[in-house]
Amino acid sequence: MGKTKYIFVTGGVASSLGKGIVSASLGKLLQSRGFKVANQKMDPYLNVNSGMLTPYEHGESYVTVDGHEADLDLGHYERFLDIHTTRNSNVTSGRIYQSVIEKERRGDFLGKTVQVIPHITNEIKQTIKRVASEDYDFIITEIGGTVGDMESLPYLESVRQLRWELPNDCLNIHLTYVPYVAAAKELKTKPTQHSVKKLQELGVQPDILVLRTEHKLNVDVRKKTALFCNVRQDAVVECIDVPSIYEVPLRMREEGLDLVVLNLLGMPTDQTQDLSKWENFTTKMKNATKEVRIGIVGKYVELPDAYKSIHESLIQASTYNDRRLKLSFFQSEKINKENVADKLKGLDGIVVAPGFGQRGVEGKIIACNYARENNLPMFGIGLGMQCAVIEFARNVVGLKNADSSEIDTKVECRLFDLMQEQKSSLKTDGTMRLGAYNCALKKDSFVRSIYGKEMVSERHRHRFELNNKYKEDLEKAGMVCSGVNPESGLVEIIEIPSLKWFVGVQFHPEYNSTVLNPHPLFLDFVRASIDKK
Ligand code: GLN
Repeated sequence: MGKTKYIFVTGGVASSLGKGIVSASLGKLLQSRGFKVANQKMDPYLNVNSGMLTPYEHGESYVTVDGHEADLDLGHYERFLDIHTTRNSNVTSGRIYQSVIEKERRGDFLGKTVQVIPHITNEIKQTIKRVASEDYDFIITEIGGTVGDMESLPYLESVRQLRWELPNDCLNIHLTYVPYVAAAKELKTKPTQHSVKKLQELGVQPDILVLRTEHKLNVDVRKKTALFCNVRQDAVVECIDVPSIYEVPLRMREEGLDLVVLNLLGMPTDQTQDLSKWENFTTKMKNATKEVRIGIVGKYVELPDAYKSIHESLIQASTYNDRRLKLSFFQSEKINKENVADKLKGLDGIVVAPGFGQRGVEGKIIACNYARENNLPMFGIGLGMQCAVIEFARNVVGLKNADSSEIDTKVECRLFDLMQEQKSSLKTDGTMRLGAYNCALKKDSFVRSIYGKEMVSERHRHRFELNNKYKEDLEKAGMVCSGVNPESGLVEIIEIPSLKWFVGVQFHPEYNSTVLNPHPLFLDFVRASIDKK
């Protein structure tokens, strides 16, 4: 294959139009033609990464295999393309500035005045090209924010420069919104025209316009947009609302997005395209009529993006089980012993969600207790796993005051604690255990039969660990520590084999579930939830 081609995806008119999904969909289409594609996201905010951000800001923090806390769009890239992203796949202005300032302190700039142009823009361009050194045909770079934001300026300037430096290898896709004015019964292109003008002022001419819309675009709208915005008519692409994000690649194919990209870059279009597995998935999804009712118990219920990857993993697992996911969220702060049965009744299974801090923990513990005593399938993830073990220790083992030192710093029975002696041997960012670690699965355990292998690799994002001092007590009482880190001996998975499906994992399997490779634990959890025997 020839030189790497760079595709930039910018957004205008409004935020939340789905740049991430459009970028991932284009990646999927190019990949289905046999190209090697990498997706990347630039976030204009000044935080160094998403690790310290509350989910209220940008939803969940996605974790890459190499332990980077990243924007949740990387989850879309991985789920759509079945690839592993890395720390190079998500860069924030904070990291760009940090790197430039470190270079300045080291004297790398030889006494020059350090400026946004060229120093910040050079750093941005290097970050984009760093991915290209890995021999990709296409790098699709999504620029966060909306054109016109002050903080996106250095990124757009870098796009302008790259286009100037590599005129035959760069392409710009601008995603905008076409509102429908009901009183006039008309779709309005004026906001798109203004947004393109804004880009042009910055020296960037879009090559392709993707118009997000709730109504079909007629030929006139397409013609008018093309004329006013200097783009070819076949480069005006409709992106209409669809019931599932997984249908977007198919819609984009119908609109010829990948063809126009190849055309504009002067590349052949005669490859055979294979999207059959993807189509099978979306067909299965549409045909599933029976429901599976799953509840997520967590503290960010008003904010579905906080559990984005868990939600998508459950959609995938339900689809492969020929079910439509009916997901409900339960605010753990509002769950108590008196109302738990009432709240969780009618569910086929529950996921007790990950989390940090003390808020809502008792409700999660009560939900675990309810699931255990009523044999309701329960999947505990991260803090959810910790709550399941705490509940079991308190009510079955008899360690009445067992707790995590995260929740109660003075507690004597530290069932979950910071492991001082292991700290040095762990890959950490601050004090967090981040990224992929191996986990050895116990012979004859339930999870070993689900995974169908002895060793798995899963991604972590946590500080506290199960205290091995209590492992024997837990196992004697009927909880099996069925997954253990082979190097450190840390317990990563627990299960109660006497129950229908009761599994807790310290890691985050949701980061490893993709459309074409759904995660075995989610698949089996949904299978068990619908199995009424
Ligand atoms: N707060 C817990 C810890 O740091 C669990 C984090 C999580 O849910 N991943 O150990």
